[in-house]
Amino acid sequence: MVARNNNKKPLPTGSLVPSEAEQKLKPPRVVHIENGQVVVAPPQNKTGNRKPKQNQSNRNRRPKRDFGRNPLPSFSEHRLHPKEGVLSDSEMNQTSLLKKDTVYYVPLGGLEEIGRNCGFFEYNDEIVVIDMGIQFPEAETPGVDWIIPNISYLEKKKKKIKGLIITHGHYDHFGAVPYVLEKLGNPTIYGTALIKAILEKKLAEMPNVPKMKFQIIKNHDRVKLSQNFTAEFFGVSHTIPDTTGVVLETPAGKMVHFADFRLEYDEHGNPLNMEEFEWLAKQNIHSLLMDSTNADGEGHSTSEKIVEKNLEELFKAAEGRIILSTFASMIERLGEIITIAERIGRKVLINGRSMKENIEIAKTLGYLKFNPGVIIPLEEIKNIPDNKILLLSTGAQGQENAGLMRIVTGQHRHVQIKAGDTVIFSSSVIPGNERSVQNLKDNFSRQGAIVHTNQDLDIHSSGHCLAEDLLTVVKMTRPQFVIPVHAHYYKRAANIQTLKKIGFPKEKVIMLDNGYITEITKNNVRFTGKTVPAYYILVDGLGVGDVEAVVMRDRRHLSEEGMIVIVSTINKKTGQLLKNPDIISRGFIYLRDNIELINQVRDKIKNTLNQTKSQRNADSEYIKTLIREQVSDFLYRKTERRPMVLPVIIEV
Ligand SMILES: [Zn+2]
Repeated sequence: MVARNNNKKPLPTGSLVPSEAEQKLKPPRVVHIENGQVVVAPPQNKTGNRKPKQNQSNRNRRPKRDFGRNPLPSFSEHRLHPKEGVLSDSEMNQTSLLKKDTVYYVPLGGLEEIGRNCGFFEYNDEIVVIDMGIQFPEAETPGVDWIIPNISYLEKKKKKIKGLIITHGHYDHFGAVPYVLEKLGNPTIYGTALIKAILEKKLAEMPNVPKMKFQIIKNHDRVKLSQNFTAEFFGVSHTIPDTTGVVLETPAGKMVHFADFRLEYDEHGNPLNMEEFEWLAKQNIHSLLMDSTNADGEGHSTSEKIVEKNLEELFKAAEGRIILSTFASMIERLGEIITIAERIGRKVLINGRSMKENIEIAKTLGYLKFNPGVIIPLEEIKNIPDNKILLLSTGAQGQENAGLMRIVTGQHRHVQIKAGDTVIFSSSVIPGNERSVQNLKDNFSRQGAIVHTNQDLDIHSSGHCLAEDLLTVVKMTRPQFVIPVHAHYYKRAANIQTLKKIGFPKEKVIMLDNGYITEITKNNVRFTGKTVPAYYILVDGLGVGDVEAVVMRDRRHLSEEGMIVIVSTINKKTGQLLKNPDIISRGFIYLRDNIELINQVRDKIKNTLNQTKSQRNADSEYIKTLIREQVSDFLYRKTERRPMVLPVIIEV
C-alpha cells in the first residue's frame, strides 16, 4: 500500500506534474534491486523500442553490478551535489573558521575535469583569485551550455577579494567572468592587453554585467595586490600569445602558478625561452601549481616549427580546397597558417564567429601581422578557384552547432563538401569528444574528402607540457612542493611517478580535489579536511545555476529510460474514471508492438482508481502519486526498465 506523502513541498502553481526526479532525490536514488542488493548504476544495454520481456525465467540477465553496502556515488552525484564535509552556509559566514595569520589555498575547479579552472588564496581578510574558466558540457549534463566554477564561498567573502588574475585568453581560464563578476563584487581583474580585449568583447554581449575594472599587466610587472599578497608575472609558452605565469608572494612563501604552459623547442629539439625558468630558479619557490593536462603523456612537446613545416607540406600537396580546423583560441597557430597561405597564394576564409573575432582582436593589437587582403569573406567562396581556397573552421571537437558540423551535414549556407577537398584536423581530441570527432572524420571521408589528423602526422602540438618537460621544469626551479592542477586525478597523479625519477618525494606532490581547503605554512601543505562547495554550476541559455541537479537527473533519466504519459479523465466528485486512459510513450516502447502491455497498464490504472474512488473529493495529487508508483513498479516487473511516468489527471 502506498503511503501518502505529506512532507512533500507544495508544487508551484501551473505545474501539472511533479518531476519524477524530484521524488527520487532523497533518499539516494535506488534504480533497482538485484538479489537483495541495491544497485545504484542505471541498467546497462538500453535501446529504444525494445520489446518488453514477458518471460522472466528464460531472459538473459545483464551482468550484475554489485557495489555492496556502500554504493559508490555515480559521477553525477559527485559533481552535481556538495561533497561530504562541505561547509554549510552558516559556517561559511563565520569569520573564525579559518585560522588567523595562515595562508589557505582552495582550488574551485579544474582538478577533476578539463576546464573550469579556478582557485584562490586566502589570508586573513584578503583573497586573491586566479582564473575563472568555463568547462564544456559533457554526457552527464545533457542540454547544458557551460559549466562554471562554484563561487558560493567567494560570494560570501566578496569584500575580501583583492583581485582576480586571468593567466591567459582561453575560455577554460576566463570564460566564466561575465557570469560571476557582479557576484564577486566586481574586483579588479589583472591580465594582459589581449585578455582585456577578449573580455571586453564578451562582456559587451551581456548587458547586465557591471563595467569591469581592469589593470593591464606586462611581463615582470610586480603588483602589490593587497597588504599580504604581491604578484609578479612571467611569460610562458602556450598556444595563445601573452600567457602569463604568476609568482604570488604570500606570508608562507612564493606560490608559482604556471597557467597553461609547454616548453618550446626549435626544429632541432633545442629548448627555447628558458630564461624565465632560470629566473624562477632564483625565487626560492614554496609551491609549484603545475598544469597537468598532459602530465600522463611521455616525452617532449612537438616543436611548433615542425607543425608549421608539416602543415605547409600538406597545403602544397592539396590539389583542391583545404578545410582546416583547429581551436579558435590557438591564435599563434592561426597566425602561422595565414602566413603560409600568403606564401603559397591561397586565400583564407573563416568559418566560425569566435575564430573570426580572435583573429581580428589579435590583428588589431599587433599580435598577428599579415596582409589584410589575404582574408576574404566566406560568401565569396564561389568566386575563387578551389586550389586557391584555405578555409579555417571551428568545430574540430565535433560540436553540434559549430562550423565543421554544418559543413559535413550539408547545412552550411556557403560551403558543401566535395570530393577532393582536403580536411585537416590541426587539434587534439578533448577527452570525452572521441566519438563525435570520429563521426565527423567518417562523414568527411564518405563524401570523398581526404582527411588528415594529428594521428598520421605532427600537425598539432599541444599547449601543455608532457611528462619529460614537467620534469625539466621541476628540476630547474626546485620548488619545495608540487601541487598538480588542471585535469583529472589520474593525469595529475602521473606527476608522482615522473618526479620520482629525480628523487622528488611522493609526499611533496600534493594531490587535492576541487573545493579542498588547503593550509599552507612555511614548511607544509595540508588538506584541512574541510571543503567549500565546488559542485557544478550549470549555465543553460542565459540562466546561471537555474538548471538544478534535479533537472539534470530528469534529462539523464529521459535519455536512459524514456517516458510514458498517462492521461486519465475522472469525475471531480467521485474520482471515477470516465474513459479509457490515454497512454503516450517516447523512448520507452513502441506502443503498437506492445498492445498487450498497454492494456495491462490500463487495467492497472482502472484498478488503482477503483480503489480510491470511494473517497469523497478525490485528491488528484494523491491519485497521481498512486498511479506513478503502481505503474512504475508494474512496468519494471514486466520490462526491467524504469521510464519516467507522468500521470496527468483531467477532472470534469
Ligand atoms: Zn590554455
